[in-house]
Amino acid sequence: MSVMGTTFLESVLQTLKRSIELGGYPQEVYEILSRPQRIITVNIPVRMDNGKIQVFTGYRVQHNNALGPYKGGIRFHPEVMLDEVIALATVMTLKNALNGLPYGGGKGAIAVDPKKLSRRELEELSRGYARALAPFIGPETDIPAPDVGTNPQIMAWMVDEYSKIAGRNVPGVFTAKPAVLWGNPVREYSTGFGVAVWAREAAKKLWGGIEGKTVAVQGFGNVGYWAAYWLTKMGARVVAVSDIGGGVYNPNGIDLTAAKAVTDKTGTVANYDSTGTRKITNEELLELPVDILVPAAVENVIHRGNANNIKAKLIVEGANGPTTADAEEILHKKGVWILPDLAANAGGVVVSYLEWVENLQWYFWTEEETRNRLEAILMNTFNRVMTRWNKLGPANVTIREAAYVEAVDRIYNAMKVRGWI
Ligand code: GLU
Repeated sequence: MSVMGTTFLESVLQTLKRSIELGGYPQEVYEILSRPQRIITVNIPVRMDNGKIQVFTGYRVQHNNALGPYKGGIRFHPEVMLDEVIALATVMTLKNALNGLPYGGGKGAIAVDPKKLSRRELEELSRGYARALAPFIGPETDIPAPDVGTNPQIMAWMVDEYSKIAGRNVPGVFTAKPAVLWGNPVREYSTGFGVAVWAREAAKKLWGGIEGKTVAVQGFGNVGYWAAYWLTKMGARVVAVSDIGGGVYNPNGIDLTAAKAVTDKTGTVANYDSTGTRKITNEELLELPVDILVPAAVENVIHRGNANNIKAKLIVEGANGPTTADAEEILHKKGVWILPDLAANAGGVVVSYLEWVENLQWYFWTEEETRNRLEAILMNTFNRVMTRWNKLGPANVTIREAAYVEAVDRIYNAMKVRGWI
């Protein structure tokens, strides 16, 4: 639900509908893609440290598997709603299709605040979720991975639990595992890296390059931190960062290593202090006078209530669904470029794919080989989206719509040759 207009699911469906029309695909494609193929609800009892049983509700939404096994993360968040998981699963189907991966889309979630659980409780819950879903997932069925609130350790517990049930090691059932347990080391920073690559390529088109461009990053977790890191490496100047506890702004640039150390120690980047740095709220961060804005936290943060105050010319969606459809309309009219989630944050799932390929073969590439493959896939997608956008007409069509058309094209063709449509 959103008090600021369209919900995430409404935004996704609205864009999907328009893209299917723009691409000239049959209405039946919308009938199929506007609903998930399967929704699984699980209730997981956990013996808490106080001796009592607490039952947690979780979901796995298997949205569409026309192109291959369902693929997408698992979110641990206190306020998850089924509608939101459906929206996220739909975006995964489109994201995987857009990037040429042999996957459909899915998403899972548990309504829980992982920070409130002890390590043992978190492990029990993670194992319980893997057990409950074991009949419905697998390397060729559905391959979950981390999302907001989950991490490689949780994947390790889940892959261990699934492997015990299967009676053998099954590395390819979850991705983004720790490197020692068949994980690919690039996966840790791959989403942030992809955000930076998309920003760099768009900046070349807008300004001739990214060097010296100022950036504000909302979210200082796995995506936000690594996006800031790679953007800095590419020559941009990160002037503001924030997380759930608030943010900091320094027009001369933020020392990311120092800011990360403070975050790890105190729980929020808002406690980072240095000469010239001042505290800001998450809302203020979005409206700063910067060239590039990277929303890398949660959905619906850019809405019709603040869209007009945004000064960045380039928005790069590290998060899934940070911009509502009505905000996008306002920003598009102002000439702002929004690099949409299914494109800009796809680095994560692309390396999940590479890790899965490694797991199926029990053969592992070097970090450099993985990163080169990742960058090649991202560049290929970037060029296809830009070509499609220019063909459709940038004045009337958003980059998101162009990316959706590009994605729907593959899904439609797969459904057609399968005889679904
Ligand atoms: N949760 C990530 C996403 O939204 C990655 C999913 C994956 O690696 O499967 O794209």
